[in-house]
This record gives sequence, C-alpha cells and structure tokens, in this order.
Amino acid sequence: MAEIRVEHLHKAFHGFVAVQNSNFVIEDRTFFVMLGPSGCGKTTTLRMIAGLELPTSGRILLDGADVTFKRASERDIAFVFQLFALYPHMNVRRNIGFPLVSTGMKRAEVKARVEEAARILRITDLLDRPVSGLSSGDRQRVALGRAIVRRPMAFMMDEPLGALDSEMRDVMCGELRGLHDRLKATTVYVTHDQTEAMSLGDKIAVMSHGVIEQWGTPREVYDRPASVFVADFIGSPPMNLLTFHDGLQPGRGSVRVGEADIGIPAPREAVTKRDLILGVRPEHVRLSDAARLRGEVFGTEYLGTTQIVTVTTPHGVTRARLAANVKVSIGEAVGLEFRPDRISVFDAASGQAIR
Ligand code: ATP
Repeated sequence: MAEIRVEHLHKAFHGFVAVQNSNFVIEDRTFFVMLGPSGCGKTTTLRMIAGLELPTSGRILLDGADVTFKRASERDIAFVFQLFALYPHMNVRRNIGFPLVSTGMKRAEVKARVEEAARILRITDLLDRPVSGLSSGDRQRVALGRAIVRRPMAFMMDEPLGALDSEMRDVMCGELRGLHDRLKATTVYVTHDQTEAMSLGDKIAVMSHGVIEQWGTPREVYDRPASVFVADFIGSPPMNLLTFHDGLQPGRGSVRVGEADIGIPAPREAVTKRDLILGVRPEHVRLSDAARLRGEVFGTEYLGTTQIVTVTTPHGVTRARLAANVKVSIGEAVGLEFRPDRISVFDAASGQAIR
C-alpha cells in the first residue's frame, strides 16, 4: 500500500519559485503522470516526493505518515532515470541485483528475485550478457529490473523513455503500462509528451510555471480542461480556442456574439458582459451551410481516414477533423458548427474554465 499525498508543496531556489502550492493525492496502485513543458517544475516535484530535494514549505505524506523531512533512503521509493545509469563493467544479472546485494541480502534470495524481475521484463536470456552490448530498449529494461527487484512501495520515473527513438518509445510505453498492470505499484512518472501521458496515466497532473493547472483522469483532462493552458497543451491538434469580446448575451445554453449564435452547455455561473473563450476539439467541429459562424478554408491536411481542415474565422483559427472524403477547397467560404455539449467555456481574463 502506498498512497502519496502532497499538501501545499512549495519550492523556491534563491527566490525563484519552481513549485507553487501544489496539492494532489496519488492513490495507492495508481500510475500518476506529471505532464508539462520543460522547466514547469515536474522534476522538482518528483525529487521532493522521493526525498532528493527539501521543500521550502508544505508536506508530503506517504500512507498517512509525514515523510517531508525523511531521507530518500528511508522512504522505500525506487527511481528510474532517463539516462540508464547502468554499471558498464557488470553483466545484466549483477546490474539488476546490485541494490539487493548492497543491502546484504542472501545470495540465493538475490538470485531468485533477479530471475523473477528478468522473467517479468522478458530478459531472462540476457542475464549473463554484458550491458555494454545491449540495445537501448534492453538497457531500459535492465534499468527497470533494477528498480522492481527491490519491491519498493512506489516508483519514481523521470522521463525514462526520453533517450529512446520514437519506435522504441512506443514499444516501451506499452511494456511499462503492462508492467504496471501486473505489479500495481504506485508510480509517479514525469514527461513532457502528452501522448505518453495519455496512454500511460491513470491520472495526469498538468503543470505550468510551477502550478498544477489540473489533475484527473486522461478523459477528464481531455474532455473538461480546467484552463486554456490545459486545453491547448493536450490533444493533437489541440483544442480550438475562439475569443468573443463584449456584448455577450448568454441565454439558456447559447452565446450570441454579433452574427454568431453558438450553443454552449448552460454555465452555472453568470457570464454576461465578459470576454469569453470557447474551446472545442477538432472532432466536435463540422461544416454546415446553415451555421452562423462563418470562415474561410485556409488549408487541409490529409491523414488517411480523416483530414484536418483549417478555417480562419473572425474569432480565431479553427481546425475541424472531418472524414477524408469530405470535399473542401482552399479559399472556400464555410459555416462552422460545434457540438454544443462538447464546448468548454473559459474566462478570457483569467484563462480558467467557467463551469
Ligand atoms: P525539465 O523537463 O526541463 O527537467 P521540469 O518541468 O522537470 O523541466 P524542473 O527541473 O523541476 O522542471 O525545474 C523547474 C525550474 O526550477 C526550472 O526553471 C529550473 O531551472 C529550476 N531549478 C531546478 N533545480 C534547480 C536548482 N537546483 N537550482 C536552481 N534552479 C533550479
């Protein structure tokens, strides 16, 4: 059992705030992904959870016990780094077994545990090979073996697939998820790659400038982004964001702006006379001659079964994911219709979602 609770976590380096008032819970057995652009504070958060960095303020609870000031070695957490950090002069077996040998565990027990880890990772046939000749994928498997052999309470992984080519990343991504489904150990995983985050995470925390913008299931984060930042960061192509200035007359589930009258999920908050941003995913946009929001086709990108059609409108560029056989030509005037129940509404001033 390993539940990780982070409360008001804050870290400043000589006055520079790297992590700002973070609050989240990583439930036992969860694969938790910290996602965000370079420098947003993911690694610093991970290092504080692991005990490699002291917070400026706030608390970290491991299964309810306050470990904020405990050493890394007292937290029973295993780290997997991007650079494989294997011992080049040792073979695979000794590399995997190293953390156990250094605890003084009996040789027979070490052997059994190493062989079990190798079986799980399907590298039994490599056990007596030197690590120097291994492929990058196999080196990463050995690094994982060295983490799982300890049977820790939780794993911390910092961009572990960052050094692999894209094909190998896909393979290892599938293997990591399979490994988690098998071991069910609480895992905190840092990446800047949203595809990796979506396919691996039970839960995702999206970070920007030291702040956790949102955390939840991949579906929650994709379908109901809490901010313009999340809407724009997740999805490929990202969510369309259209700005509507002043003169808003939101009735029941619709926003009238000049010539456009757009159905939106009726917000619980009053949104009159505010600048709004409407967010809609490309797959929820369609072309309709009757639509009041008009634009001009700027370009098309053929993707096999679908195409991405880019349309310029007075409220911003909008991309629609349409069936590949829909005929459109550059420069054509089109109407755009959004699926009303799939529109997100943001306050343009704060960038936060209006629910
Ligand atoms: P990356 O993916 O590039 O590692 P990240 O989201 O993991 O990015 P962090 O490594 O946590 O970001 O860094 C957050 C910010 O804190 C960055 O601006 C970084 O320069 C700064 N930072 C991190 N460690 C230190 C340190 N020891 N001293 C000073 N500043 C630091």
